[in-house]
Amino acid sequence: MPKRFIPNDAWSRKAKSEGFRARSVYKLQELDEKFRLIGSNMTVLDLGAAPGSWLQFVSSKCSGRIIGVDLQEIEPIDGVELHVADITDANAIGSIIGSESEQSIDLILSDLAPKTSGISDVDQWKSIELSQAVMDVARAHLKPKGTVVMKILRGADFDSFLKELKQECREVKTYIPKACRDRSKEVYVIARK
Ligand code: SAM
Repeated sequence: MPKRFIPNDAWSRKAKSEGFRARSVYKLQELDEKFRLIGSNMTVLDLGAAPGSWLQFVSSKCSGRIIGVDLQEIEPIDGVELHVADITDANAIGSIIGSESEQSIDLILSDLAPKTSGISDVDQWKSIELSQAVMDVARAHLKPKGTVVMKILRGADFDSFLKELKQECREVKTYIPKACRDRSKEVYVIARK
């Protein structure tokens, strides 16, 4: 049965009433239902994780190592390691993961959002730059059969980014969860190495 349309403020109210820190949790929930992303013993790295609703959801399903990184502080979550860092700083990410030469991550999540300028081409390009940084982290730290899920703002450079990704990954899919804002340019890319 098709899911009922829920307006954005209703998603926010639902998140609040269910104890989640942001309505974006429902995007991850849907992505997880569709692509079976989160396993009970995985090592999961969430890039751009504040305020932490994705981490709340992951920690409810997974008892492995869960690491959240953001430019902003994240309120503590039981069983989750939290770090303030810029994900484009490879040294910082390497020392957070603590195994610079070892590929130890099963799942990389990125709901990264650049500071928006209001100029859509600029914002979309910044989103592609962040996604390139996510792939740098994946090259360094993702297990050979690991998965990357990343949010990208669709724009002029989206197709060429996707094309490059398809050359590098064995499976690349795109998906727009129902909890994305109407008319939003957000799309989630699911790439398996
Ligand atoms: N998934 C999160 C949740 O459910 O709570 C929401 C993430 S929010 C939409 C995007 C986050 O990306 C912001 O908290 C922002 O600080 C972070 N961010 C943007 N650029 C970053 C960077 N270079 N390094 C680390 N975090 C970054």
